[in-house]
This record gives sequence, C-alpha cells and structure tokens, in this order.
Amino acid sequence: MRFDTLAIHAAQPPDPQSGAVMTPIVLASTFAQDGPGKHKGYEYARTGNPTRNALEGCLAALEGARHGIAFASGCAATTTLLLTLRPGDHVVCCDDVYGGTFRIFDKVLRPLGVESDRVDLSRDVGALRGALRPTTRMVWIETPTNPLLKIIDIAELATLTHAASAKLVVDNTFATPALQRPLAFGADVVLHSTTKYLNGHSDVVGGAICLNDDPLAERLRFLQNAVGAVPSPFDCYLVLRGLKTLPVRMRAHVAGARAVVEFLRTRGDVKKVVWPGLDDHPGHALASRQMSAPGGMVTFEVEGGVPRASALLAKLRVFHCAESLGGVESLAELPSVMTHGSIPPELRRAAGIDDGLIRLSVGLEDPLDLVDDLRSALDATR
Ligand SMILES: *Cc1c(COP(=O)(O)O)cnc(C)c1O
Repeated sequence: MRFDTLAIHAAQPPDPQSGAVMTPIVLASTFAQDGPGKHKGYEYARTGNPTRNALEGCLAALEGARHGIAFASGCAATTTLLLTLRPGDHVVCCDDVYGGTFRIFDKVLRPLGVESDRVDLSRDVGALRGALRPTTRMVWIETPTNPLLKIIDIAELATLTHAASAKLVVDNTFATPALQRPLAFGADVVLHSTTKYLNGHSDVVGGAICLNDDPLAERLRFLQNAVGAVPSPFDCYLVLRGLKTLPVRMRAHVAGARAVVEFLRTRGDVKKVVWPGLDDHPGHALASRQMSAPGGMVTFEVEGGVPRASALLAKLRVFHCAESLGGVESLAELPSVMTHGSIPPELRRAAGIDDGLIRLSVGLEDPLDLVDDLRSALDATR
C-alpha cells in the first residue's frame, strides 16, 4: 500500500467484534485472563493496550519501520531512548537541537554521567569527526532544524556514524514521514513529538520512536513498560485519527508556507526569509533530494530587532502568538524568548539564532488571510 492509504488503514482493520471502522478506545487498565498467564496478548495497560498498538503499528508503517513505540510526549520518548546509554557514554547532537532536548542532555543526562557536544552538521557532516570520542554511542539530529531550518545530509551522516560504531537518531518532527523517511537514508532511529504535525490539531501531547533495529527495539519496549511514560488510550486514538489526514494536511501546509514566503520576500522591511524551498537556502539542493517538499515551517527576521518582532507578534490576528507547531491553526513565536529561552544566550547566538528571529508554523487557513494578517502587522509596526 502507498503512503496515503497506509495513513488511513495501517494496523487498523475493522474491529473484529463489531465491524467498527474506527479503532475502539480501550480504557481498561487490566485484562481478564483465562487462567494465570493465559491471556490474549494484554495483561496490564502500561505494558500494552489495543488502541496504543494500533497507533504504534500505523506510525511504524508510515516510517517504513518494523517497530513503533509510543510515549506520553516527545520528551518522554527522548528520555526513554537516552536511558539505553550508560554513565561514561557520549552523544553528539546538532547545534540548534530542540530546546527541550538540549535541556534533557544538559540537566538530566549530564548529572547521570552521559556527556554531549553540539556541532553544526549542516555545512559539513564531516564536522562530526572532530566531535567523536571513543565513547560516542549516538549522533542525534533534527533536519530541518529548529528554528533555522538547516538541512543535514542523513545518508552521509549515517555512513560516518556507523563507521564510528554509533547509532544515528533523527528527530523527524518537523518533516514528518509524509515528507522525509530517515530510515530509508540509513538512520537507525526516528523520533517524533506526535504533539506536532502527526496529531496535527493541537490537542494532544505525545511522542514516538520508530526503528528497524530489533535488539534496540526490544530494549525500548522493556523501558517503555519499566519507565512507564506511556500515552493514554484516548490520546492514542486522537493521534491515530490525526494521522489519517497527515498526507493531505502536509500538502496544504506546504502550499500555505509557499504563499507566505512569497509575500515576505516582497517586503523591504523583512531582512531575511528562511525556508528550504527557496533556492538561496544553503540546504535547498539537499532538501530537494532528501525531502519530497520543503515543509510548513518558515523563519524570518524583520528590520527593527526584538522590539519590532515582539510588537508584530502582538498585532497578529489570524496567527496566534504561541509555542508549538504543526496544528491546523497558524502560530507565530519568538524563539529567543519562547521555545529556545532555556538555551543559554551565548550558545543560542553561537548557533545563529538571533534574538529577533520569528518562527511561523503555517496552518491550514486560507493563505490569503495569512498574508493579509502579516501585511497588517508589518504595516502597523513600521
Ligand atoms: C516539541 C518537540 C519535541 C518535544 O516534544 P514534546 O511532545 O513537547 O515533549 C522534540 N523535538 C522537536 C523537534 C519538537 O518540536
């Protein structure tokens, strides 16, 4: 089956009892056994739940993975994956990694003896070599990165990572499997915040890991149950429902982003527009090979710095000024204050995240309304 079909049907046959075409939400915390140990595959809902199984099967199918494992949040997925490491192990991550991921590396893992280093891998994946240590176990990237939308060559990085006997983890939250499937380029693990595009309606916090590596999947299944950061059956149902429209939504997000980018480029008071679909984007050629479309995230910078950027965000009427991304509604935010506020300013600036940058998550409203909204806010703050 092809992607759009998998999004609707993978791991979701009609309910054998009733014929219901939507996967039932099974809320039971425990499951009756015919005798001790004689069960139908379910014992206790932290360990396994039918609604969660359907979600995990569908996510795995979309990423082209053998295993899908769902978590209570993207950060829960990240933390559980990092619990496969031991004191003394080392991780290399891309320099503008998600703020919450950086916080886990810095404030949770470092005190436990797991070190990490940040490297810009978008200009030259060879920069990895200088950061490798004999103890490097994982290389952790996002592509496109957040909020600079830098593109990292997954296939080349996978080769370098494997030569160092480490595993490549790709946080695929921004692209989604509708636009990019990292496992096909040699990544070992794909991680998601399903909170964003996969659920797509800003009403769930969730996470997932997809992979083909059987021993690592077995360890993660153990940790999923042992640590217990599992999503509720209702949240699993909502993400499963969101996935059905993922391919259609992503096409519309990309079309909206294109319209917004074209408008921003006509403005003399916009200094910089960043979108991988633009041919002046340094990762444009790579993005064209690695992704089927440039995505729905746009970053830009206005003349007037932080004061103007803040005023502009307050003036927007269709865009909401809010963190997060990937929902049907358009969002605008100031990374230096909001999503990336937990990264120390000197590290943030070193990574090129200027304080006045604005990040847009282009939603599914009529693109003409989005453009009108941006035009009014730009004019009103001139
Ligand atoms: C939001 C996000 C996360 C964290 O996910 P939560 O669901 O908020 O815990 C991780 N990576 C990226 C790229 C994100 O955007």
